[in-house]
Amino acid sequence: MGKGGQGNEVEGENMAAWLVAKDTLKIMPFKLPPLGPYDVRVRMKAVGICGSDVHYLKEMRIAHFVVKEPMVIGHECAGVIEEVGAGVTQLAAGDRVALEPGISCWRCRHCKGGRYNLCADMKFFATPPYHGSLADQIVHPADLCFKLPDNVSLEEGAMCEPLSVGVHACRRAEVGPEKGVLIMGAGPIGLVTMLSARAFGAPRIVVADVDEHRLSVARSLGADATVVVSAAEGDLAAEVERIQAAMGDGGGGEIDVTLDCAGFSKSMSTALEATRPGGRVCLVGMGCNQMTVPLTSAAIREVDVVGIFRYKDTWPLCIEFLRSGKVDVKPLITHRFGFSQKEVEDAFEVSARGRDAIKVMFNL
Ligand SMILES: [Zn+2]
Ligand SMILES: [Zn+2]
Repeated sequence: MGKGGQGNEVEGENMAAWLVAKDTLKIMPFKLPPLGPYDVRVRMKAVGICGSDVHYLKEMRIAHFVVKEPMVIGHECAGVIEEVGAGVTQLAAGDRVALEPGISCWRCRHCKGGRYNLCADMKFFATPPYHGSLADQIVHPADLCFKLPDNVSLEEGAMCEPLSVGVHACRRAEVGPEKGVLIMGAGPIGLVTMLSARAFGAPRIVVADVDEHRLSVARSLGADATVVVSAAEGDLAAEVERIQAAMGDGGGGEIDVTLDCAGFSKSMSTALEATRPGGRVCLVGMGCNQMTVPLTSAAIREVDVVGIFRYKDTWPLCIEFLRSGKVDVKPLITHRFGFSQKEVEDAFEVSARGRDAIKVMFNL
């Protein structure tokens, strides 16, 4: 464990975990850019491994984002401010902060319209060609660093990133106190989406997955009911019936909202069929790029379908959920590693293997 240690600095050099080739991560020096007037320099303390980091490690690409040159990995992070630029007034050295990874242009129509997550000029941690944050120190705009209250740990701060996906999905899906919620998929994103839906007031949440172990985790984190489903298309109608029955149990009502955190034809078909007429389905998971789904049957029942791309303006709410205890992300952190070459390799292996690993966290 590197916690409380001196990180990995050799002779004062700033070190980072670089993705240099398929399946190859190397801790190497990382030269920091100059500190701009509205930037802060942050000493990283907690960095989580995301499914996307593992995907880049295994494939060197995600969709059209291709890793062509060595890239620093990591984007779920929190740390302590070391230095602030001349124009920064809201933060000071010593502040503990959670970092939002995406730097948008603030000039295009999407940014001006408040949907900056759709900005075409987004510079996002560990999305090529931009470096990530698994490093001793990084430089980042101050407006994307959010101060943590005393009762929120740096690890919880790093969890604001995956939690943000859940929060943005719940906003897009219009989850609320009158909405029965179905979640397809109980992986890390399914679980943070479930915790978000609860914090948004969802009175009853049903979670479906192909893996009974994952469902047991979902139950321990507060799912009201869980349903084991299969990957086979032929089981669709019977599974939809079982899922609807699970929502109806104990006086519960219909499925008003479904969040598909898996993103396969089968999970999305189930989502569309199980959701009540007039309900809403949000596609969160990206299991595949193209799917075949019963869209017409959903359309004639006026089931609205929305998607999400990352998140926007979610850190303040995530931090408030953590501060107030409305969301507890601590049980999601299943593995911890320090920041050495060996531990970085081990940590990614644990995360890639899945099984009992939900969130693997580096303590720097
Ligand atoms: Zn992530
Ligand atoms: Zn923009």
